[in-house]
Amino acid sequence: MAKYGMVIDITRCTGCYNCFLTCRDEFCGNDYPGYAAAQPMAGQNWMRVIETERGKYPKVKVAYTPVTCMQCEEAPCIKAARDNAVYRRPDGIVIIDPVKAKGQKQIVSACPYRVIEWNEEKQLPQKCILCAHMLDRGEKEPRCVESCPTGALVFGDMDDPNSAISRLLAAGNTESLHPEYELEEKVSYLGLHKKFVAGTVIYGDKGECADGAEVTLSHDGKVQKTTTNGFGDFEFEGLPSDTEYTVKIEAKGYKPQELKALTRIDVYLGEIVL
Ligand code: SF4
Ligand code: SF4
Repeated sequence: MAKYGMVIDITRCTGCYNCFLTCRDEFCGNDYPGYAAAQPMAGQNWMRVIETERGKYPKVKVAYTPVTCMQCEEAPCIKAARDNAVYRRPDGIVIIDPVKAKGQKQIVSACPYRVIEWNEEKQLPQKCILCAHMLDRGEKEPRCVESCPTGALVFGDMDDPNSAISRLLAAGNTESLHPEYELEEKVSYLGLHKKFVAGTVIYGDKGECADGAEVTLSHDGKVQKTTTNGFGDFEFEGLPSDTEYTVKIEAKGYKPQELKALTRIDVYLGEIVL
């Protein structure tokens, strides 16, 4: 028996919304008895793409984070349901029974990821089922995975050591979107955005971008180095939150500059004139 899971590689996600659209194409107006009732034509997102603006002008980035049911091992939605209305299949997929769950609105608020939607017309909680109806008829992947043009969604059998998902998990770089929930999610992430510290260095006497200035980022004895590019820009990516760094900028013939950067948010230090 396969144990299904998914890795969402944020570094490959371009925010094209194909996954969102194909999910709606699969479920809007289509009943799959025993798996899920039809999704309403408006108002529900079983696969949503969250857009996050990072930094400030002129150093702005957009991060896309696809979010769906995490198929948790320790699923609060299962615990909140009466009558086994939510259950985990032997392959790990968590299903909300479209008959037994009728009227059980408490299931919606049990999910800390807020991925269960309430169907007012049918009085039914609903969510992603990893296209279990397709897998059971022999398809290899859910619709969202099939439709992703960049390979950002990697789905497969986590018990098969040769599957793409097992190899990604074995590499040890995946992480939970919210490890603090402690739910043992079967959907994990690669490349979740952290924080950056960036700036632009200028030679004051020439009024030019400082190409090749040395920039050192340090905190608690740990040091990272980079050099400015032809536009005088530098950036350190993937930094932990709420950490105070010292940024030192050095260039031959100029007095070094030292600044502080606290990664409560993404930090753009602005123009730094040597
Ligand atoms: S993400 Fe939410 S809906 Fe999905 S299994 Fe976990 S608790 Fe249940
Ligand atoms: S289809 Fe793939 S690239 Fe497009 S938004 Fe979804 S995960 Fe990202």
